[in-house]
Amino acid sequence: MSPINNPLFPRTTSRILPHPAKTNSVSSEDPEDCTFCKILSGQLPCTKVFENDEILAFLDIAPISRGHTLVIPKTHVSSLTLASPSIMSSLGSVLPQISNAVIQGVGAKDFNLLQNNGQIAGQVVFHLHFHIIPRFKDVESGRGRLMISKDENEKIGKEIRAKL
Ligand code: 5GP
Ligand code: ZN
Repeated sequence: MSPINNPLFPRTTSRILPHPAKTNSVSSEDPEDCTFCKILSGQLPCTKVFENDEILAFLDIAPISRGHTLVIPKTHVSSLTLASPSIMSSLGSVLPQISNAVIQGVGAKDFNLLQNNGQIAGQVVFHLHFHIIPRFKDVESGRGRLMISKDENEKIGKEIRAKL
């Protein structure tokens, strides 16, 4: 399922863009061919906002809102149902801090914390991840994707990092 077709969220019409990376496909469940493992190994670039020994957080390539951040474990696991207590503990112990930095960095007060499991649920990258999606008053709240320049993205990343 395309991320813009998730039934949990109303469609927006003005901002919907084709997903630049995964328009009609889902990422392989094979760690050898996993987009986020490639980010972890440096084969693919990302705008990093947080890193420790177990966890990496970086800006989504096709953000739903300014500051949309993905938080992933460094160990490849495809779904929440397969995550060990230790992975969940590592994620849980940094999610509040990262969420706080994300919303402060982009000047939001509210946010969604989302996590998709399986293709029918809208998962397109099969490496466990949490979405932190800041929400802004008077800004349409949907699943359409924003077009943000590389420079702007770097600026947002810097603002978030400064709040950590
Ligand atoms: P899912 O639908 O699997 O929960 O979300 C996967 C997210 O990963 C999507 O929001 C998508 O935009 C993002 N994404 C896919 N490929 C890349 C990439 O190469 N780099 C970054 N930063 N995000 C990606
Ligand atoms: Zn992976």
